[in-house]
Amino acid sequence: MADDARTAGSAPVRIDAGARDAAPGHARDTDLGPTRPIGVIGAGTMGAGIAQVAAVAGHPVVLFDVAPSQVELALGQIAGFLRRDAAKGRMANDEAERAVARITGASTLDACAPCALVVEAAPERLALKQQLFADLEGVVAEWAVLATNTSTLSVAAIGGALMRPERLIGLHFFNPAPLMPLVEVIRGPATDEGVVAAVAALAARWGKTPVLAKDTPGFIVNRVARPFYGEALRLLGEGTADAATIDALVRDGGFPMGPFELMDLIGIDVNYAAASSVFEGFFGDPRFRPHPIQRAMVESGRLGRKSGRGYFAYPA
Ligand code: NAD
Repeated sequence: MADDARTAGSAPVRIDAGARDAAPGHARDTDLGPTRPIGVIGAGTMGAGIAQVAAVAGHPVVLFDVAPSQVELALGQIAGFLRRDAAKGRMANDEAERAVARITGASTLDACAPCALVVEAAPERLALKQQLFADLEGVVAEWAVLATNTSTLSVAAIGGALMRPERLIGLHFFNPAPLMPLVEVIRGPATDEGVVAAVAALAARWGKTPVLAKDTPGFIVNRVARPFYGEALRLLGEGTADAATIDALVRDGGFPMGPFELMDLIGIDVNYAAASSVFEGFFGDPRFRPHPIQRAMVESGRLGRKSGRGYFAYPA
């Protein structure tokens, strides 16, 4: 399946027009070429990383968040990461500055109007994502592609209320997006084949390894990862070992990170939302039941690195 994605062509791909004609003045071809503007919705952990990846690849990027302060924070972080890369010789100074200049912060969704592709990286809540895409349909051009970075939710459900669900696709980056090569490309039941090919080719041009995945709860990686977190949380809950010990043993076993430091990196709220979504997606299968510790951590505001405290402390 990975090979399908890797060999997909990079030329502009025509989306099946179906029974509907393009409105006058709207292009009919999906062109995700390197100069086409990309919209990113949500300037949190993932949105900031995705915006950085798209800007480094040469695209003008519009980064929107409901919280303007989050946009400012993300722009500062991206500039900091790129300048640090330049200082370490990983890219030229002017290349880093050009990438920084390509990203524009936005305080309204309307700013996404010229985008050929909009990638949504808002919180993992179905109703929120459905509403965002319904709003986006009224903003972007007829042939723009819409992508969700959901970790676990069904692309079918997110696109269920769309007028044109054939242009919606799952594009699941991993954290941190600029560093992690894997991208799951999720074809919903209505997704047009041309959209799948164009998005997979785009991800490959961005230096990623796109892998086609089915629209099942948690797709591939988050499904496999559930027991990794779940069993670690059960060990902690039973008092068998503390978080630092479990992490150290797992790292000694060859994993690059332990489950607790990884949950802190991901965001404990984000990880809990993913766990709850997979559990619901499999109709309450006990194999995927979230742990009460996760809920308690979220309720007490211990969200991991981003809040300064999770399973471990992160002093400013
Ligand atoms: P986050 O909490 O860091 O950021 C979410 C951002 O969305 C926040 O800045 C918030 O202000 C903003 N937001 C909330 N409502 C919005 C709206 N209506 N319109 C625009 N912006 C809105 O979350 P994240 O970790 O970046 O996760 C985003 C998505 O990516 C989720 O679907 C998550 O499951 C997925 N994901 C997360 C990770 C990870 O490791 N954190 C990895 C892969 C995928």
